[in-house]
Amino acid sequence: MISLAEARQLVLEHADPLPARVVDVADAVGCVLDQPVVATEAVPPFVNSAMDGYAVRAADTADAPASLAVVGTILAGDAPTLTVGTGQAARIMTGAPLPAGADAVCMVERTRPTGDGASVVIEIALRAGDHVRHPGEDIRVGDIVFPAQTAVTPAHVGVLSSLGIRQVPVHPRPRVAVLSTGDELFGGDGPLPAGKIRDSNRPALVATLAADGFEVLDFGVVGDDERAAAEAFAAAAAKCDAVVTSGGVSVGDRDIVRLVLDQLGGPGTRWMQVAIKPAKPLAVGRFGDTATPFFGLPGNPVSALVSYELFVRPALRAMAGHHRLDRPVLRAVAAEPLERRPDGKLHLLRARVSTRPDGQLQVRTAGGQASHQLRTMADANAFALLPDGHGVGTGQPVAVLLLGAHGIGTVGDDRFGLEPGFGLEPRW
Ligand code: AMP
Ligand code: MG
Repeated sequence: MISLAEARQLVLEHADPLPARVVDVADAVGCVLDQPVVATEAVPPFVNSAMDGYAVRAADTADAPASLAVVGTILAGDAPTLTVGTGQAARIMTGAPLPAGADAVCMVERTRPTGDGASVVIEIALRAGDHVRHPGEDIRVGDIVFPAQTAVTPAHVGVLSSLGIRQVPVHPRPRVAVLSTGDELFGGDGPLPAGKIRDSNRPALVATLAADGFEVLDFGVVGDDERAAAEAFAAAAAKCDAVVTSGGVSVGDRDIVRLVLDQLGGPGTRWMQVAIKPAKPLAVGRFGDTATPFFGLPGNPVSALVSYELFVRPALRAMAGHHRLDRPVLRAVAAEPLERRPDGKLHLLRARVSTRPDGQLQVRTAGGQASHQLRTMADANAFALLPDGHGVGTGQPVAVLLLGAHGIGTVGDDRFGLEPGFGLEPRW
């Protein structure tokens, strides 16, 4: 058996970032920038009003209330030519360019039109710059707006659009082939034939890959036949950036993924026994003429998902150019005894994490922990990480890997200045 850390090292060797390509900004969400974005325009582009109100010379309002002559109206989108002189004001809308001569805006709520709108009373004294937005206040020309390696979110799409940038170079989303292996898998509808089970791994893996923002191609089920498996893997490898299979990687007589990889796998291909429970067996390497990265996950439904979590998602994220590969691991306390036996392995207990009234995270088991008991995986929102030993008693600290969250850093990580119990209501 090798440690989780060693196994991850071996897996990540097969996870080089995919070459960047230029995509439309709208398609870049979830992708990672390959180059910094430099602003060639300022945002805002011109001096404008932050309020609906009146553009004035601040000095005219020093002895407020002050009555000023209204010399015009400026709407958003106008390119005004008028000038606000001493004793004058211009009606102005949010986002409209500030007219020449004006240096402040009085919000409409602090004004009173008089003389049918020919004049206005400014009720408060203003300082130059009040409610004025200056060019470049958000972004200046030449700013590095986003460094390379930024993961694009919808807010990034907004910023890029505000700069007139329509395309960006990003690492593409890996296209991932998914296959199930096993003669026992029944693909039809209706009652199960004797000895058969339904395929749950493939739909679960397809769903999690899609939820993680990867492109998925479903290559179906292949039986426990070496030749058929070799053909199916080759077809998948030719079409995709990575191949993910489940089943057939342990030491049974018909563990054909292992047998096929032993014969046909490219350099660096190996299968291993990882010192974790569940999900001990794992095959990793390259397949086909394209030397496509290959991840052979165990067949037990919980093991397949655990193995995906610990190995495949991080590898695919690395291929997508991400630097934050893992979900957050936080500190919780056991709300009940979390027992285990010493066996040289790290145990990943399907668990439920919640917040106590004092903000501290607490963790309980999600129920049955055998690797075929998939329902407790669905019930879990975290894995409690139990190092080799006898487990932990009530009130003792436990590391928990939170499922369903990414990129939020780790509580206690000083980059975020957060301590456990920082008061936000976790949502999962
Ligand atoms: P294997 O690793 O192929 O020996 O499979 C281990 C266990 O997982 C066996 O009980 C299989 O029947 C089960 N299994 C394998 N593949 C799947 C699948 N796609 N869906 C559900 N169970 C599976
Ligand atoms: Mg099998």
